[in-house]
Amino acid sequence: MQSGCMDTMTGEVTELLQQLIRNACVNDGTVESGQEIRSVDTLESYFDGSGMDIQRFEPLPGRGSLVARIEGSDPSAPTLLLMGHIDVVPVNEDGWHEDPFGGELKDGVVWGRGAVDMLNLTASMAVTTKRLASSGRTMRGSLVYLGVADEEALGIHGAKWLLDNEPDAVRSDYVVTESGGFRMPLPSASGPKLPIMVGEKGTYWCRIRVHGTPGHGSMPFRTDNALMKAAEVVRRIGEYQAETNVHEVWQKFLDEADIPSEMTSMLRDPANVRQFVESTDDLGMARMIHAATHTTFAPTVIHGGIKTNVIPDTVELDVDIRTLPGQSEQDIRAMIEEALGDLADQVEVASSSNDLASASPTNTPLYDSLARVTSKLVPGSKMIPFMIVGATDARFFRRAGVPSYGYGLFSERISFADFASMFHGDNERIDVDSLELSTQLWDAVIEDFLA
Ligand SMILES: [Zn+2]
Repeated sequence: MQSGCMDTMTGEVTELLQQLIRNACVNDGTVESGQEIRSVDTLESYFDGSGMDIQRFEPLPGRGSLVARIEGSDPSAPTLLLMGHIDVVPVNEDGWHEDPFGGELKDGVVWGRGAVDMLNLTASMAVTTKRLASSGRTMRGSLVYLGVADEEALGIHGAKWLLDNEPDAVRSDYVVTESGGFRMPLPSASGPKLPIMVGEKGTYWCRIRVHGTPGHGSMPFRTDNALMKAAEVVRRIGEYQAETNVHEVWQKFLDEADIPSEMTSMLRDPANVRQFVESTDDLGMARMIHAATHTTFAPTVIHGGIKTNVIPDTVELDVDIRTLPGQSEQDIRAMIEEALGDLADQVEVASSSNDLASASPTNTPLYDSLARVTSKLVPGSKMIPFMIVGATDARFFRRAGVPSYGYGLFSERISFADFASMFHGDNERIDVDSLELSTQLWDAVIEDFLA
């Protein structure tokens, strides 16, 4: 920070973030939670007087989203949509050193739920948007700001609803949202590698129903016990290893990551990837690399049996399956069958949620622009493509054919380990230098991409 102007900007984004944290738009997955309308009000009054065209949407009471648009002068120039969700996940206050909804600023750090996921970016995107509107400048391209509800559940009352019901409001050529830009813990020879999330895994949730024959618990010999069969189903699903898939995003990541060539060639070869994740002592890295290169299967919930003296006739098992780009429901079903082996025709498999993986191309003008401004703002760094193993609202836009990326910038004070532990974890916080850096990022992208 060298000038008074910078200080003002940092103060502005900090104050807006503090307010968004204090609004406590906690989304616990129930329809009546979230109440994002509080942050819609905050954003609307923040934008007041900037002359922007503001639209508010409230598909259900309290579940609000806000769109602000700055029209460009050239209809053939691109429209960039900056998307920040305004809801946050619940907290367990016991593990926190500060009030999770106090938005306290201490020693240059703002504390509170949402400080890294992702109210920090929601706030810095808003500051950049307002600055452009207030400047009175006309860019060639258009800028759309979207403060969106319900990302932390399934986006049903937020991004998905807007694309289904108000597509004109969010019409755009490119989208940037969370997450990325943290410093990857890689044995890289050159400067920091900052991942841009160009894709995300899909979610396939299924319920496996295992049948048996009821009988008296006092005579178990040679009975058809659904619980015994379910135990074997759990074992097979849990131990199943899908084939290693060194897909396109993974290859591009290895092309750019500048890690030692021996390790790169190991991680390019499916057989060696498996060996690497099984033998490394770094559990966090093993899980990340494994999830990035495999369809994963996690048995998570089981219900069955009715009484201690009754041989159970039904057991239900829920499995959380995470899929890779290009995989269809048929592919996933084939893997489940392979995992179950000769038990496959003795159970019923029903999917409860099927959200396919998605990926955006990296050869786009926006991608190039983000890479250019990154190398200017973080000297010596390089933006590299990666895929997140969770889900974000970007998937709805990718499905609508809009290239969408997850990105942001963080100061050196936020390590990858910090970032990962604070995401949905305790003591979520962000330093004001990171807030300033992400505001500079959006300012620079607008200048580079829309001017
Ligand atoms: Zn988030």
